[in-house]
Amino acid sequence: MDFRLTEEQEMIRKMCREFTDDMIIPRAAELDRTGEYPYDIIAKMAELGIMGIPFPEEYGGSGGDWVSMHLCLEEISRGDVTLGALLDVTTSVVAQELYVFGTEEQKKRWLVPMAKGLEIGAFGLTEPEAGSDAGATRTTAVLAGDEWVINGTKQFITNIGLDNASIVIVTARCKCKEDGKEVINTFIVPKGTPGFTLGKKYDKMSWMSSATNEVIFENCRIPRDYLLGEEGEGFAQHLAVLDTGRISIGAVSVGLARACFEAAFSHARQRVQFGKPVYFFQGVSFKIADMAMHIELARNMYLKAAWMKDNNLPHTLEASYAKLFASEMVERVASDAVQIHGGYGYMNEYPVSRYYKGAKLLQIVEGTSEIQRLVIGRNLLKNS
Ligand SMILES: Cc1cc2nc3c(=O)[nH]c(=O)nc-3n(C[C@H](O)[C@H](O)[C@H](O)COP(=O)(O)OP(=O)(O)OC[C@H]3O[C@@H](n4cnc5c(N)ncnc54)[C@H](O)[C@@H]3O)c2cc1C
Repeated sequence: MDFRLTEEQEMIRKMCREFTDDMIIPRAAELDRTGEYPYDIIAKMAELGIMGIPFPEEYGGSGGDWVSMHLCLEEISRGDVTLGALLDVTTSVVAQELYVFGTEEQKKRWLVPMAKGLEIGAFGLTEPEAGSDAGATRTTAVLAGDEWVINGTKQFITNIGLDNASIVIVTARCKCKEDGKEVINTFIVPKGTPGFTLGKKYDKMSWMSSATNEVIFENCRIPRDYLLGEEGEGFAQHLAVLDTGRISIGAVSVGLARACFEAAFSHARQRVQFGKPVYFFQGVSFKIADMAMHIELARNMYLKAAWMKDNNLPHTLEASYAKLFASEMVERVASDAVQIHGGYGYMNEYPVSRYYKGAKLLQIVEGTSEIQRLVIGRNLLKNS
């Protein structure tokens, strides 16, 4: 088994690491404080080809692979977890859904600018009554002549509130099969379509510079060919790309955990108590040793899942392992990082306080820890 990265993967990781050090880390605390969205940083990420890493050049991408994309996600998230989330939603979920299921025309219109980083994407699965049970969607789409008429509300939608967000990909219930049976379809709804409005912007505990909005559809009419993929396959399609989203949340978690580790390791070697740096007390250095080991393990898990994806191997189980382990790991690592800082760690002036608040969300988005355990349990049975 060869664990070495290719030259290209190493190059992408190095580029993203340097970009994060120079452009993101110096700004992250201020962005979190003001809740401002860094359009200039996104523009630079676009210039570097970051949003399109795994897509072919003919669709605006860089022609790389999913391992590279996830190495990039880890680096970017080390600087700012909200930028990692933006990238995950845009590239791993929305752009990928367009790439895998879109028609040639849909790819040209929406995937190309997204892969180039000129436009940002959003996906709308969650509703007030359909959270973990996303198949319970109440949003409806009715075919009227050559148009779909969409009605319903989606909640907690990342990215759609941004000026450069172009579309939201939504699931909706339809009675459109010949037998009149209800199915779930997926639709591309461009921002600015009459009947599509943004509801409230949520006031969150953390991730301040990530835009999270409610989305409301009231007799929102879109052309018939804005259906994405096969009729009746919408939910399955969404779940398929969420496998990749889960690998991405694994990588984002590892990035944030590294930020925690780096801060704690540095502080422990500088902070002197009882006449020596606290690092030299076993109670502290054992925590740091565990942090490093768990980060390494979580990285191996997301890289294995990404490698399986690149090699067209089934990876639902590995994606859930990576998401579950990494997102639970980062919460422990963030808590230990605050602990190692003592009282300083509780002060907003120290980044670990921000990391700690940010870590929790990773166990909730793209399927909670409990849902990952359900997916794992089901797949173990299926594979037995
Ligand atoms: C900041 C933020 C950004 C988000 N971005 C997006 C986005 O871009 N697009 C989108 O579609 N959604 C998004 N979400 C929604 C997110 O995916 C959901 O919050 C998540 O899937 C959980 O759904 P819920 O909040 O309704 O919780 P619920 O489903 O109500 O769950 C409540 C609790 O019950 C548990 N539970 C539920 N069912 C089971 C079960 N069968 N077995 C065991 N435990 C169970 C859950 O794990 C959880 O602990 C975002 C959420 C947040 C907070």
